Amino acid sequence: MTDIFVRVAIDQPMSVLFDYRYSLAAEPVVGSLVEVPFGRRDVVGLICEVASTSGIPAAKLRDVTRICTDCPPLSAQWLLLAGFAAEYYQRGLGEVALPALPQALRDASRWNRLLAVEERFSMLAAGRAALPDALPTRAIALRRLAEATAAQESIGMSEARALHPKASATFVDWLALGWIQRAAPENERSAPEAAASPTGSSLLPQLTGEQREAVDAIASAQGFAPFLLHGVTGSGKTEVYLRALAALLVKRPDAQALVLVPEINLTPQFESAFRARFSALAAGSIVTMHSGLAEGERARNWLAAHTGSARIVLGTRLAILASMPDLAMIVVDEEHDPAYKQQEGLRYSARDLAVYRAKQLEIPVVLGSATPSLETWWQAEQGRYTRLTLARRAVADAALPAVRLIDLEEERQRGRASVEGLSGPLIAALKSRLERGEQSLVFLNRRGYAPILSCDACGWVAGCPRCSAYAVLHKPERALRCHHCGWESRIPKACPECGNVDIAPMGRGTQRVEETLASVVPGARVLRIDADSTRRKGSAQALFSDVHAGEVDILVGTQMIAKGHDFRRVTLVGVLNADTALFSHDFRASERLFAQLTQVSGRAGRAGLPGEVMIQTRYPRHALYLALSRQDYVGFANATLAERRDARLPPFVYQAMLRAEGRTLEAAIAFLEEAGAAFAPLPGADRVTVYDPVPLTIVKVFNVHRAQLLLESGSRAALQSALRAWQPVLRSLKGVLRWNVEVDPLDV
Ligand SMILES: [Zn+2]
Ligand SMILES: [Zn+2]
Repeated sequence: MTDIFVRVAIDQPMSVLFDYRYSLAAEPVVGSLVEVPFGRRDVVGLICEVASTSGIPAAKLRDVTRICTDCPPLSAQWLLLAGFAAEYYQRGLGEVALPALPQALRDASRWNRLLAVEERFSMLAAGRAALPDALPTRAIALRRLAEATAAQESIGMSEARALHPKASATFVDWLALGWIQRAAPENERSAPEAAASPTGSSLLPQLTGEQREAVDAIASAQGFAPFLLHGVTGSGKTEVYLRALAALLVKRPDAQALVLVPEINLTPQFESAFRARFSALAAGSIVTMHSGLAEGERARNWLAAHTGSARIVLGTRLAILASMPDLAMIVVDEEHDPAYKQQEGLRYSARDLAVYRAKQLEIPVVLGSATPSLETWWQAEQGRYTRLTLARRAVADAALPAVRLIDLEEERQRGRASVEGLSGPLIAALKSRLERGEQSLVFLNRRGYAPILSCDACGWVAGCPRCSAYAVLHKPERALRCHHCGWESRIPKACPECGNVDIAPMGRGTQRVEETLASVVPGARVLRIDADSTRRKGSAQALFSDVHAGEVDILVGTQMIAKGHDFRRVTLVGVLNADTALFSHDFRASERLFAQLTQVSGRAGRAGLPGEVMIQTRYPRHALYLALSRQDYVGFANATLAERRDARLPPFVYQAMLRAEGRTLEAAIAFLEEAGAAFAPLPGADRVTVYDPVPLTIVKVFNVHRAQLLLESGSRAALQSALRAWQPVLRSLKGVLRWNVEVDPLDV
């Protein structure tokens, strides 16, 4: 018998595969998961090659201990995708491929349980008749189990166990008594012929001419077809996605589609729209993928996509690496959203990988946004992406809201003072909405009560002891909190420096605005939605449903309230404190602000009632605000692109960032200087500009000092090849705690 060797990708910061001897009974297949010894541990890896020889001496080779035979191997195409991501983002294949799998698959001891189809049971007539009397009155959990089993067509074992810890033993008894029977597994329950007409409902909304054209263009696309769906807020982009998917599933009933959304808290709303529209598909055909799912559910959903039983996957950025053998269309909703960029580990852009994946598979990809990223807009300007425009709102009579700039300086000069940062016109507008029974939304991008707590007498300011940042005052929680490292302490009663008891909060966060609104708009029911008020799982959903149910008059919050939500009764949006982003050192700050304000403005006047947006500013003649008040994204985008071209900034150049974290700033800078010096002789480096190392704006976080080195080139290929050659050099350098390379960084 000849020897067999496999080359395995392992989640290690190395761009090599590891050789193992293979002598198990099951045939080794590329794309299969295996368990292998690595150092002193056993780890799960992925077979990337099967070979009859190995360059490693036989004495040093170890054996594969286990192969996962229940899970079908990952396809060659998926391995290519992972390989591309690894290459482009300067990582090892194993560092990309393994973290892309659900945790449960990366633990060999769970393989067999994970893949077993869950047993289901249904109640028989004999059980219905006998059970109520057969159970002791006080056996509450047992009664609940019996009731839940009787109430539905069938019950799964995991649900049963959640109701009663001894559910398996109980079901064995009940089976013997003839009270229940085994039922068909979940995904085989629905009628298969329904798939022929994925859109079961005949009550579809009437498409506008623009929507119809967009749907037709996407549905008739052949091969790789990137689309930019540029639609104003409320123009019905979701309806275009739904129709394009329906057309796809009619043409190819076995096809799969991937729909990405930026935020977890938007998926339930999206999910219900998709489930309602594709209700005729078999149960289990639509699955979600995001980090908020429990491990078991995430593994089940991943497997459903991998085996093809899930036809539509709705997910956040991590879903871009889902294995989908019949993937035929990708949608990226709100493609401009920075949430598509992973900020740790593999720092990938899910939007960019979506375009790559579509190209690889020769399928359409739809990038939707009211304010496309300038990268995407530039692709469309050059004709590389097909632009589809929805310039009007879809609901009849729903015009875009009127945007009004409130000049805070003028208000002050005319002696019309603001109350705690809320201007007179905004307060008056809030009151009139309350009288009319309409909802208002107040947006400011700063959570907590006040960003600064300070002492007038000596100038002391509350800071985080571990970071170079102020500690934010949180009044309801009675705490000072650091938003960078999570440090927390009680609010001091007096100044710790001079003993002055008159320490005061400066500036305003959402908590303070919430408090002010309650007093200046008497009788209004005010609700705050931000990262603090939605900390518990599911609470964001509950708060948003209060808004939809009309139990809230004024909603105050951070960007969490800006995105995607379809608030039917909001007619007024107030924007506070947006000016700070106008003068940021980050060249993308104005692009982000424009997108954010367009999003939040778009919440107003969606259902036919006229909407109004009030932006409080000290710079009412700033070009960004003027473009915003004209609803002129195109003007803003083209002017900003011209500025970027003159300044040689992305998308006209390509960037990469080396970041280092050290015990001292000097150590971090020294590492970057050494790395920069080692970069110069590398192939391609002559076409790359290496800037000087600089400290990050917030230089110290959790006692770690951070600095960065920017690289820039007009040639993506030159930058890529130099970065690749740089990796072994960087690994050999010492002196810092951590470092990472980010390609196409968003925060520069
Ligand atoms: Zn003091
Ligand atoms: Zn801190």
